Amino acid sequence: MKKMFINGEWVEACSGETREILNPYNQEVIATAAEGNEKDAKFAIAAARKAFDHDEWSHWPAHERGKKVHDIAILIERDREELAELESLDTGKTVEESRGDMDDIAGVFRYFAEMADKDGGEIIESPIPNSTSKVVHEPVGVCGQITPWNYPLLQASWKLAPALAAGNTLVMKPSEITPLTSIKVFELMEEAGVPAGVVNLVLGPGDSVGAELSTNDDVDLISFTGGIETGKKIMQAASSNVKNLALELGGKNPNIVFADAEFETAVDQAMNAVFFHAGQICSAGARLIVEESIHDDFVIALVDRVKNIELGSGFDESTQMGPLISKEHLNKVVNYVENGKQEGATVAVGGEKPGNPELQNGFFYLPTVLTDCTTDMNVVQEEGFGPVITVEKFSTEEEAVRLANDSIYGLSGGVFTNDIAKAERCVAKMRMGTVWINDVNLYFPQAPWGGYKQSGIGRELGKTGLEEYQETKHVYRNLKPIPIHWF
Ligand code: NAD
Repeated sequence: MKKMFINGEWVEACSGETREILNPYNQEVIATAAEGNEKDAKFAIAAARKAFDHDEWSHWPAHERGKKVHDIAILIERDREELAELESLDTGKTVEESRGDMDDIAGVFRYFAEMADKDGGEIIESPIPNSTSKVVHEPVGVCGQITPWNYPLLQASWKLAPALAAGNTLVMKPSEITPLTSIKVFELMEEAGVPAGVVNLVLGPGDSVGAELSTNDDVDLISFTGGIETGKKIMQAASSNVKNLALELGGKNPNIVFADAEFETAVDQAMNAVFFHAGQICSAGARLIVEESIHDDFVIALVDRVKNIELGSGFDESTQMGPLISKEHLNKVVNYVENGKQEGATVAVGGEKPGNPELQNGFFYLPTVLTDCTTDMNVVQEEGFGPVITVEKFSTEEEAVRLANDSIYGLSGGVFTNDIAKAERCVAKMRMGTVWINDVNLYFPQAPWGGYKQSGIGRELGKTGLEEYQETKHVYRNLKPIPIHWF
């Protein structure tokens, strides 16, 4: 039985309600978690408000805060294996992938721990005689943080570490279907000695707990990672008290492959782009845009490799791809591909659930390549969020960039070519928050992450990731105050 963490205590939901947490590989119940609602969220917000207003954390010396954040990183490293296994149980991804996630997560805490006392503000040369002028950064206040199910702890770490380093207090709501690693990290934050009320965890659904966090006037900032439609609701709700807003939303991310690219690498990376974690990645390169002259050979090579991808339990070493997260999501992916077929896409491989008897209890879908796709199709425009790649053709550089930009999203993209001048020309025109040249899906704590267009507002990670959790104050001092006799 997993509880919520409010004001330094592990508590059940006010209503006493619980939710069963399922393993997507076989639908076994792996835990029972408290199912909070608006009331629990209100208690947690009040605890965070009190902790912030009583300077419990925000006025600690910045290096002390940094040290605490660093201690959390060490505890995550200590419990790496347990956390990785929990993440795989909860999401179905391979333990090998989860181990990599845990290393990234510890790295995020270490990075923001280091940043905590590096920001001493800035002296400005005042244009007014006999005055000084400086800029200081302060915490925003009480932060609401809402995370999705695809990278439960990674997405949580991008919010927890900078919020804490900057001196905020917070209430986190993880996805109701994958709360286990977030719960564990709140245990670790308690063990590290983060003061009561500074970090609070409320479990439960989006339309009650999440909505309360987005509307409550005692919340100063709402940081959300998830789908575009939820993001729009949160943006509206946040207007109630003009909250600071950070949105990390979806993507439909193009990979442009030119004929002069390293062929084997481009094929390999096209797969890495979309089949890790069964394509349930916001930056999945699910749109392949291939130069016409190599298109047919590229598809043959891709299909040849895709049909050998090993599906199974994330705990089995031979498994390369696990299940989708839930029955609802599997149905969504099934419909997405069926609609694509009706629009004229051709299934080159996959396009259905696997027949293997041992996979029937899990939410599996075969890795799928759809050809004969064009930019006007929904299957190309919509975020499928499954192991499905659509392939389009282009014949000129201008056309490749135009197709890549033809999207409501602008999260990430890739360019594969050996001509670096050509790559740079494309990058300069691609309207996306991250563009990779001859690589895919790389991110690290030092580099900002976020989207153009409807992929979001703001940037996590990097210096900007800390700034999202800071207010900026200009302090002007008159060194020779005298009356000016204007009136
Ligand atoms: P989702 O929008 O359904 O849910 C995300 C979170 O929002 C969950 O915790 C959910 O309970 C909560 N929520 C739902 N309704 C709410 C409401 N009305 N008010 C407040 N909170 C509410 O998204 P999901 O299905 O969990 O995640 C998949 C989506 O997340 C994809 O679109 C993916 O691209 C996106 N994502 C983006 C990034 C990024 O960095 N840009 C990273 C990971 C995932």
